[in-house]
Amino acid sequence: MPTLKIRGVDVEFPFVPYACQQVYMAKVIQCLQEKTNGILESPTGTGKTLCLLCATLAWRQSFIADQQLQSLRRSDTDGVFNSGFGKDLSEDLYNGHGAWGGSDEGMLMEKPRIIYASRTHSQLSQAIQQLKDTSYRPKVCILGSREQLCIHTEVSSQQNNNTMVYMCRAKVGARMCNFHNHLDEKKSDKEFTEGLLDIEDLVKLGQKHKRAHGIELKGHVLIFDEAHNVEKMCEESVSFDFTSYDLASCIDETSKLLEKNVEVESLNQQFNTDSSAVDFDSAELYQLKALFLILEEAIDEIQLPLQGSGITKPGGYIYELLGKAKLTFDTYTQALDLLEKIISHLTNSPTGMFIKTSGLQKFSDILK
Ligand code: SF4
Repeated sequence: MPTLKIRGVDVEFPFVPYACQQVYMAKVIQCLQEKTNGILESPTGTGKTLCLLCATLAWRQSFIADQQLQSLRRSDTDGVFNSGFGKDLSEDLYNGHGAWGGSDEGMLMEKPRIIYASRTHSQLSQAIQQLKDTSYRPKVCILGSREQLCIHTEVSSQQNNNTMVYMCRAKVGARMCNFHNHLDEKKSDKEFTEGLLDIEDLVKLGQKHKRAHGIELKGHVLIFDEAHNVEKMCEESVSFDFTSYDLASCIDETSKLLEKNVEVESLNQQFNTDSSAVDFDSAELYQLKALFLILEEAIDEIQLPLQGSGITKPGGYIYELLGKAKLTFDTYTQALDLLEKIISHLTNSPTGMFIKTSGLQKFSDILK
């Protein structure tokens, strides 16, 4: 495999790169060395993913080597690294300007983690495939949504992503997901930590070991491959739509649960028992229903132009609107807490078979 020296970093590439690939890799390395953001563009079919992977991983290796060297230098009481071969090696690695782009000499930093984000599942599989063609074998952790990674039969068979989220949380909280329970003991398993696994491999391995994935979103280098939709995605991630149908669903779902709860509470009173398995009471459900009704009224009061073109308000207006239903920065966590308890109860108990949660789930997501 050819090794190239780019900005002082030894980059191993699976074949002799084209000039444009060399330029691309040099720019990637420059961003990493200068710890700056970069937006890189290159025509389709020019091997961007491969260049990104090789350049980033090569830089990472040189960063780690430099850190180790500095650590050795500090503990070098015999002066081996200040003369002869040791000095040459040290200078070569340090390469005058510091190939890794470090700052203070002697500072030992955490190994940088590379977070590589692609737009779709299949692009991620392709990236892993390309990584397999290189000589780099970093420890890899695949991040995906529950839809792709959940291996719990009951949870993964749910059609609705929100339902999956609530079921998963309830199972993990009650230690009823065996895969999650096995997580800690498998964390050091070589099969997981040393192979290059794409999402399918990971799901298969998880099923074999009855283990789920402990994923932490922390890292130092973030790469968005195919990032042309990032702006739109960011906008969408902080936007929501909430229709009159959604609000009506919230009212309906809360009313049905309230009815059921009042029934159970009255039976409990009558027979002096406590058959209720919920950690909320009817008074709280009344409050929640009142909140939705006030919100509905407040929305109805908004004057719309006759032509039906709708109106646009400044972003902060949403707080004013929610404030009318007494939902403020000080109170919304209480409402959210109650919503989570209700949704979790309905998702995980037989009562949920008769009462939907789609409206409540949507409202809870919006509040979050
Ligand atoms: S913790 Fe269990 S239920 Fe949750 S996503 Fe993982 S496997 Fe599925």
